[in-house]
Amino acid sequence: MTTLPKSGRCFPNIFARITFSSLIEVVGENGMHAVFRMAHLPELIDCLPPANEIKEFDTADFSSIFQNLDEIFGYHGARGLAIRAGRITFSEGLKQYGESLGAESLGLRDVTFAERVERGLDTIASVFNQLTDQRIEVTRAADSERWSFVVHRCAVCEGRQADQPACAFTEGLIEEALFYYSGGSKFRVEEVECSAQGAEACLYTIEIPEPENPPFKV
Ligand SMILES: [Zn+2]
Repeated sequence: MTTLPKSGRCFPNIFARITFSSLIEVVGENGMHAVFRMAHLPELIDCLPPANEIKEFDTADFSSIFQNLDEIFGYHGARGLAIRAGRITFSEGLKQYGESLGAESLGLRDVTFAERVERGLDTIASVFNQLTDQRIEVTRAADSERWSFVVHRCAVCEGRQADQPACAFTEGLIEEALFYYSGGSKFRVEEVECSAQGAEACLYTIEIPEPENPPFKV
């Protein structure tokens, strides 16, 4: 049972709400009630944060949910659950913000595969950069088939300490976003550095596993 000191940085209510709804869908109500209790946030059992963009859900409370998920289900069990919840969170976010985030409004229909990937990554980054205190940078490697996605002040591992990368939730969210924006390709998304392990930021590498997907052309 772990509680983390408040960070003083807050996440928009709706982001916490969608994330916790997704976790409930994956983990089940009883399991998540146990997680909420262990994180000393029992009020979430009866009432999830409201569906508004007000920044008032402390990011350490957000990360303590993932910390306690690990403690209850073990690293590997929690990792699988968090990835699935991350995927659902992207899909639910798309329903909420559909018009502005949708592939149609981004004009993705007539652009190359690489542009779809990049506009997709840039879109997620700009949503988080505008609405949260996280700072995300997306860069493409010189060989063009890999991207890096760097999250400063990550809310998933705020204040946590871990021996292994702790932000599987974000891996799932990026995977689902790229599946959607690319038009159905599966990507390998791996957190290779994590703030919870002492890194300056959480760093994800993104690549297209061969041979499941169509050949990559720039
Ligand atoms: Zn991390």
